[in-house]
Amino acid sequence: MELQSKTPSTKGPADMFTGDVHFDVIAKGEAPSRLRVNLVRFAPGARTAWHRHANGQTLHVTDGVGLVQSRGGDVIVMKPGDTVYTPPGEWHWHGATSGDFMCHLAMWEGLAEDQEGPETEWAGHVGDEEYGAARNF
Ligand code: MN
Repeated sequence: MELQSKTPSTKGPADMFTGDVHFDVIAKGEAPSRLRVNLVRFAPGARTAWHRHANGQTLHVTDGVGLVQSRGGDVIVMKPGDTVYTPPGEWHWHGATSGDFMCHLAMWEGLAEDQEGPETEWAGHVGDEEYGAARNF
């Protein structure tokens, strides 16, 4: 057993996020574990770029009001206590609404030994116009 003390938050890189996003790495399991857990804080209007996870991802909102959308799908509003599962390979983005902060746990699995990467594949930003369609929540 090992106590892992709080480490400084990391600013989300501008090529993967729009707006002010910070995350804490909660768990990054060493093999054979592939556990990945981040606590991610989004300022109002902040969101990820479009991306997909090789092994899917579970989001669990702990605070604020969030948005999540799969490519071609409706924008879904997420509130504290809500959990959203995105299956492997499904393009999506997630973030805060324009009027609220949002904090979620992001949980996924790293690549298996026999699995081709990348673990997460990133694409274009969610532009203001695209995000604007989701803005009025
Ligand atoms: Mn994701």
